[in-house]
Amino acid sequence: MEQMDGLQVIDCERCGDLVDSRSRIVDGTGPPEADLLFVGEAPGAQEDADGEPFVGRSGDVLDDALREAGLDRGDVRITNCVRCRPPDNRDPRQAELANCRPYLEREIELVDPELIVTLGKVPAEHLLERDVAVTSEAGDVFDPEIGGQRRELLVSVHPAATLYDRSQADTFTDAIATAADYTDEDSGQRRLGDF
Ligand code: URA
Repeated sequence: MEQMDGLQVIDCERCGDLVDSRSRIVDGTGPPEADLLFVGEAPGAQEDADGEPFVGRSGDVLDDALREAGLDRGDVRITNCVRCRPPDNRDPRQAELANCRPYLEREIELVDPELIVTLGKVPAEHLLERDVAVTSEAGDVFDPEIGGQRRELLVSVHPAATLYDRSQADTFTDAIATAADYTDEDSGQRRLGDF
């Protein structure tokens, strides 16, 4: 894809509103061959400032849950459905999701993860291509076709959901613990906390 260099989007001006609202394109981070690929919605203010997904308050929640599951942020790959911050943190529009989809599909193809974990409603619905009741489906694994290949996908609530609804905290932690079971024990990625 001519606008990508490996896993990096070099330049993109497909979404006028987002070109205006972004400071930069926020690509995925983490090992290019990670077992787990977390997919969020779109960068927020902090992510736009730092150029890295999930570095704001949601990122702290994600980091804590990963640690509890014996994983470190550096063990997993983290990306978003849309790579540019929407104005006023509004949800990405369908056209924006569609414009950014080839980049996400290419990232999924190159990383070839054991498991994709969707964080929140937007990525779950985008990749499962149906309505998703995230709270009741959190922890469930599906096998949608993405970019012409079947992929294992675990639905999770968004980490921010735990900040305004404490009852979601266990749902989130449990989903991340399920995800940790998909990592390769021999690589030493899993359950580092046990040692
Ligand atoms: N929420 C998301 O969905 N993605 C981020 O990168 C940060 C917050």
